Amino acid sequence: MKTERSGSLYSEICGYTPSGVSSPVRAFDPYPIFADSGKGCMIKDVDGNEYVDLCMAYGPLILGHSNIKVQTAVRKQILKGTVFGMPSEPEMDLLKRICSDVPCAEMARLTNSGTEATMHAVRLARGFTGRNGIVKIDGGFHGSHNDVLVNGTGGASRTWSAGVPDGAIENTRCIPYNDIESLSSLLEKDKDIAAILMEPIPGNMGVVLPGKKYLEDVRKVTKENNVLLIFDEVITGYRVAKGGAQELYGVTPDMCTMGKIIGGGYPAGALAGRKDIMMHLAPSGDVYEAGTFSGNPITAVAGLATIDEMLPCRYKKLAKRSKKIQKVMKDSLVDRNIQGCVNQAPSMFQVFFGRRFVSDAMDARGADGKRYDDMFRFMLKEGFYLPPSKMEVNFLSVAHNNEVIDRFCESFDKFLGGIQ
Ligand code: PMP
Repeated sequence: MKTERSGSLYSEICGYTPSGVSSPVRAFDPYPIFADSGKGCMIKDVDGNEYVDLCMAYGPLILGHSNIKVQTAVRKQILKGTVFGMPSEPEMDLLKRICSDVPCAEMARLTNSGTEATMHAVRLARGFTGRNGIVKIDGGFHGSHNDVLVNGTGGASRTWSAGVPDGAIENTRCIPYNDIESLSSLLEKDKDIAAILMEPIPGNMGVVLPGKKYLEDVRKVTKENNVLLIFDEVITGYRVAKGGAQELYGVTPDMCTMGKIIGGGYPAGALAGRKDIMMHLAPSGDVYEAGTFSGNPITAVAGLATIDEMLPCRYKKLAKRSKKIQKVMKDSLVDRNIQGCVNQAPSMFQVFFGRRFVSDAMDARGADGKRYDDMFRFMLKEGFYLPPSKMEVNFLSVAHNNEVIDRFCESFDKFLGGIQ
């Protein structure tokens, strides 16, 4: 596999941006591959190599790369204008769709990224309740703003970034996923909690599934303590079901955040929730939130075209395919006598080497990162682009057909077969 042009572009770009990437997750040694184009489930690099893409830009491309319906909608909108500084019909249509599809969404507000959505959701929760505390899940990721750059390794909350003032995170509490006792004892002790912000299906520690009734219990405990429940559905929104994980599990939060798929491949985010809460946003209310590009018509038409294409039968197919991958990968691990487990949610999956199960961030951190890295490099040579980190997720799109999935599973088995 020749990657000389990627190498030379990397040397050049490093002079202009740190480590040559616009977002840290994209970096890997010795240098990241530079993308040239994508079509369906395939991505082509600047050296002409083609890969089956299982990273899929970290989630937005549920229809695959360069979907014709999305391209057509965008082309039509570009001719009419790209940003207006006034409300527009595409923006309203997307809002209407979100409010009809997503169970908690009585109203929504569009932003430009998932980070903005969670940042404003946290501010809104604080403004609405008059309380300061925010609870998050250890290993949960909600974008790169100060309040949420907190992990709970070893039980002690700490920031994972320099430059975050102590004051910015002193109101953020961190608890393990799938541990209802931690949440209920925290909420009983601390009466200054505005909300818990959590991914209902964490997708930033590989994929981790909620244990039986965990989400129902979270809903119950938050209601009993009068604390808002915010589901961060930036990954799971329109992915695991049209209405996201809240539809899949039948648990309705007070608010949710979205991004990725609702922009159909263009920069997007949204916060949504109960009308009595949402009405506290400016200018109706006193919680400030704004953005020059928010509600962007290009994003809106791309998001709508994507959502329109996601018929119920497609969700069913995606769920079936990710289950199949999980089964075949698990069988390979057993047959090859290699310890590991595979977690999956509809159209998402991840393997954890050296673990029998993974149900929270501590488990995920304990998985064998060296073996994952070996697999990542092996699969690259086999023509599959996976997320470079074991803490990320493989995403399927409707363009990943059975033939591609079978090839992926064969290559995975071949990798296992080469382990001494
Ligand atoms: N929330 C979750 C659950 C995410 O996975 C991400 C990004 N991967 C974000 C928020 C931040 O979204 P964005 O990158 O669009 O700012």
